[in-house]
Amino acid sequence: MDLDYTRAEQDFRAEVRDWLAGHVPGPLPSMDTPEGFEAHRAWEALLASARLSAVSWPSEYGGRGASLVEWLIFEEEYWAAGAPARVTQNGVFLLAPTLMAFGTDEQRHAWLPRMARADDVWAQAWSEPEAGSDLAALTSRAVRADGGWRLYGHKTWSSRAAYASHGFGLFRTSGARHKGLTYFLFPLDEVTVRPIAQLDGLPGFAELFLDGVFVPDSMVVGEEGDGWRIAMATTSSERGLTLRSPGRFLATADRLVTLARHADPVLADQAARCWTDAEAYRLHTFQTARRLMAGEEIGPAASMGKVFWSELDLRMHTLAMELLGERAGETPWLDGFLFSLAGPIYAGTNEIQRTIIAERILGLPR
Ligand SMILES: Cc1cc2nc3c(=O)[nH]c(=O)nc-3n(C[C@H](O)[C@H](O)[C@H](O)COP(=O)(O)OP(=O)(O)OC[C@H]3O[C@@H](n4cnc5c(N)ncnc54)[C@H](O)[C@@H]3O)c2cc1C
Repeated sequence: MDLDYTRAEQDFRAEVRDWLAGHVPGPLPSMDTPEGFEAHRAWEALLASARLSAVSWPSEYGGRGASLVEWLIFEEEYWAAGAPARVTQNGVFLLAPTLMAFGTDEQRHAWLPRMARADDVWAQAWSEPEAGSDLAALTSRAVRADGGWRLYGHKTWSSRAAYASHGFGLFRTSGARHKGLTYFLFPLDEVTVRPIAQLDGLPGFAELFLDGVFVPDSMVVGEEGDGWRIAMATTSSERGLTLRSPGRFLATADRLVTLARHADPVLADQAARCWTDAEAYRLHTFQTARRLMAGEEIGPAASMGKVFWSELDLRMHTLAMELLGERAGETPWLDGFLFSLAGPIYAGTNEIQRTIIAERILGLPR
């Protein structure tokens, strides 16, 4: 495997680095506040004006048709520059790949350019009070109506839904368990949205109550009843590659090594270990990208990446808390630590990922 970057990849890195150096704003207020949410949307619109908000998308939707390797380069530069968290991430990194693979041309043209500019911000509405790890237990349903469907049900833990404009999720149209689920897009303006405070007290999540929200047929992704298969493709993106690229952890690891420079040798050694693990995740991801570019699928290996990045992130932030002690509260490390606690839970808990690895990669008995 050739690990050198091509001339074009190096030029792309230089262009992204220069643009970010001239445009990354100072720290924005949390996107879990109304003003922070709007500030993050404005940042996304600026990124989009340079066609940098979704570099791997085709240009007709606002991207640059960048390869997966170029996208990984973009991510490294983005996080190294200390650029803002991505308020559009669930749309750009989860829904968009799903629309590319399963949506219609009409849906892609209707939604992707708006998503790239953060005109619309999408929330993932999958989890329900009795359906988290066991997603197939979901009970939200869709009922046929003239020209479309009416959606009913109760969704929860929907990130950024307190301020987002649209949701995407599964609703039962017939059958039981995995059969008879259909993948819907819906506007949030007719949904009752009840914010849920996170550990930091801000409403990072919301519960959604749908009581007959009408959506036209054009808001169904894929075929009626094919929602489970489509959702599983979304989860591969979420766990495996797009939601958490190595650039994010490499940037954290670099900052951690700086923080540990004059620390007790045992802690400094732990920081160095984190740095090499972030680098290992980077190399593993490049290997995955090459596989995908050769037409292979990521499959259950996505679960290995998810366990690795979430545990690494938690380890790095826990070490930072130890290094900083009481000073942690004056730094962004504290917020990062609180969020890293959630890594082993969201995108499918690590217990579930370990079961997938055991059964589908190692072939252990069920
Ligand atoms: C920060 C954050 C953001 C999130 N964002 C979203 C979002 O935007 N949209 C959305 O729909 N959801 C979101 N979620 C919800 C997330 O997907 C669920 O929390 C997750 O799937 C687990 O479901 P649950 O909370 O119902 O826990 P449960 O499924 O009730 O699990 C509770 C515990 O039991 C364990 N467990 C359950 N079943 C098994 C089993 N078969 N074997 C072994 N252990 C098991 C789990 O690992 C866990 O430790 C988010 C969660 C977090 C923390």
